[in-house]
Amino acid sequence: MDNNIKYIKGIGPKKQMLLKSELQINTIEELLCYYPYKYIDRTKFATVKEAKQSTDTVQCKGWITQIKTEGFGPKERLIAYFTDGEAFIDLVFFAGVKYLKQSLKTKEPYILFGKPNRFGKDISIVHPELTLAKEENSTGGLYPQYHTTEKMKKEGIQSKNIFQFVCNALKVLDKEEVENLPSWLIKYRNLISKQDALKGIHCPSSYDELNAATYRLKFEELFFNQLKVIYLKIDREQKYKGNIFPHIGPLFNDFYTKHIPFELTNAQKRVIKEVRQNMKGGIQMNRLVQGDVGSGKTMVAFMTALIAIDNGFQACLMAPTEILASQHLASILEMKHDLPLNVRLLTGSTKVAERRIIHQELEDGTLDLLIGTHALIEDKVKFKQLGLVIIDEQHRFGVAQRAKLWSKSVIPPHILVMTATPIPRTLAMTLYGDLDVSLIDELPPGRKPIVTKHFFESKRAKINEFIQDELDKGHQVYVVYPLIEESKNMDFKNLENGFEQIKEDFPDHKISIVHGKLKPKEKDSEMMRFKNHESHIMVATTVIEVGVNVPNASVMIIESAERFGLSQLHQLRGRVGRGADQAYCILVTGDKISKVSKTRMETMVNHHDGFKISEVDLELRGPGDIEGLQQSGDILDLKLADITKDADLLADVRQIIFKISEKDKKLSHPANNKLLQMLIKTNKSLFNWSDIS
Ligand code: ADP
Ligand code: MG
Repeated sequence: MDNNIKYIKGIGPKKQMLLKSELQINTIEELLCYYPYKYIDRTKFATVKEAKQSTDTVQCKGWITQIKTEGFGPKERLIAYFTDGEAFIDLVFFAGVKYLKQSLKTKEPYILFGKPNRFGKDISIVHPELTLAKEENSTGGLYPQYHTTEKMKKEGIQSKNIFQFVCNALKVLDKEEVENLPSWLIKYRNLISKQDALKGIHCPSSYDELNAATYRLKFEELFFNQLKVIYLKIDREQKYKGNIFPHIGPLFNDFYTKHIPFELTNAQKRVIKEVRQNMKGGIQMNRLVQGDVGSGKTMVAFMTALIAIDNGFQACLMAPTEILASQHLASILEMKHDLPLNVRLLTGSTKVAERRIIHQELEDGTLDLLIGTHALIEDKVKFKQLGLVIIDEQHRFGVAQRAKLWSKSVIPPHILVMTATPIPRTLAMTLYGDLDVSLIDELPPGRKPIVTKHFFESKRAKINEFIQDELDKGHQVYVVYPLIEESKNMDFKNLENGFEQIKEDFPDHKISIVHGKLKPKEKDSEMMRFKNHESHIMVATTVIEVGVNVPNASVMIIESAERFGLSQLHQLRGRVGRGADQAYCILVTGDKISKVSKTRMETMVNHHDGFKISEVDLELRGPGDIEGLQQSGDILDLKLADITKDADLLADVRQIIFKISEKDKKLSHPANNKLLQMLIKTNKSLFNWSDIS
């Protein structure tokens, strides 16, 4: 399986290079894992007359009566007249003309695959697949279709050629060597062999065969995904001993008995308990705290930091933006009262003099808690005794950045990752299956659900009337515009126009504007103006998305809401409803929106739970597109399994692996040797990822 594809019959150096550069296929295994994207039912043939009526791919028997070329040079194309004796259809080739001119034969029986196109009155098939009937090599039943690129087609590699390579590869495989699951597991779940599965997925003779093959390969895919995830965790727990924080000290106790501004929710209490258990146990903590917007993660972070500091260690809290970092500083300074706790802020705009103090205090150990942005991970920043790293709004940080933090201490610090992007359970298992997860599944008491409405653009007057009412009550309003990289200028224009319009519509009110083109300083001062109620309406792009806390703001207007993803909409909505008054979120869209956009709006109107919303998001978009998770794509490279549809299979697989791991922590039992081999083989590429989060 690890052999280069050049050893397969039919693949010369040129095709080898093309498969490598176009499809990243190097080995036989990679070729065999290049699964068909669909199958054509080989038992069905259409007449040419029927084909001309069809808009879907068809299969016909017939022959070519004449071949001619038109145009010259790069514009040259080849036209072949194809018939079954009853009707004619034109076959048109723009690529590979020279090759086809030599190889296509007239009057020989061909089998034709292709999708008819209509140009005015003319019906033709562009770049059909033609196979000489006598060379026909399918096992019958279902004929696989593989994706190819334009460049490959030009060089004469079409779907059918890939099929040919696959067939040739399958012929030389050894059943025993191909099998990558232990025989006990195959029996236990009644799976077909790997070899049969590969045959079944590439050349199935029936749907039953295809299904059995797909099931086995999905099982294997999820199994190895989870085996990695679960055993990496076991491995890490054995390898890295964590700092032990045995005490609950004066900082924590004083804070909890004297200064805490509110009763913790049960969920907050539970999570703090989980974290504490984890940090005193001698195993390095790698914990993900998931909590919806407004669930009170900052408090959990702060109290966790107090535990670390009480035990003589330093802690740091990393936020994705300067605004957020300074907001964390402000709320922590407020919470700490007169506790003897040295807290400082380090961001890109920290002055040199302050930086010097910070570096000094970090190294001599007098700085207890450092809050900051990416600036925290610069090499210059050295801690005396870093014991805890808290990462807020985790999805904004790249894997490499987190890796740097990890290396700041000999014994790795405990890590607490806090995310407000709820991800569905199944996705969490595949992505963060090696992390311990704590859930803040409860909002502080007294929060009223945010009343959410969807309005069409044409109802602008009504929306303005509503805004006016809320302003009259002394409330503040956000108006958010989308900002999407590719069309920055256009979006900026929308924002500016919107700003002008709002000034005109609400002449008696002060308006702030915040967008990505402002310098961090200007952004912060505008935000502060709004926070201090010196302005009443905040016109902004999504820069305000994360974490900003203005309890008096009661209305969130989201313009062009159809251009936002669900989790982004949910995040934005979470900016309001932080005070005691009823809050509103108004989604404004164009009058005509797609079905998917409509579902998104309905989901927002009907649901307030971030987890539920993330599940709909997953269904609508597929895991690869979930916001903030794109960078994790490499971890999620499932080819066949779909974690939404195959959730049961995923659960089954995990349960099997847990059972294995109870008895065989090192996978040293001979019966599990295949699993160990697989882990060793695939671990290399995952190593960096596994160590950090
Ligand atoms: P998020 O989880 O989105 O980061 P925050 O930590 O910013 O949420 O908390 C949101 C608001 O709720 C803050 O104003 C915070 O002071 C308040 N809060 C947090 N926990 C509680 C609680 N147990 N009771 C009442 N209010 C709380
Ligand atoms: Mg927060």
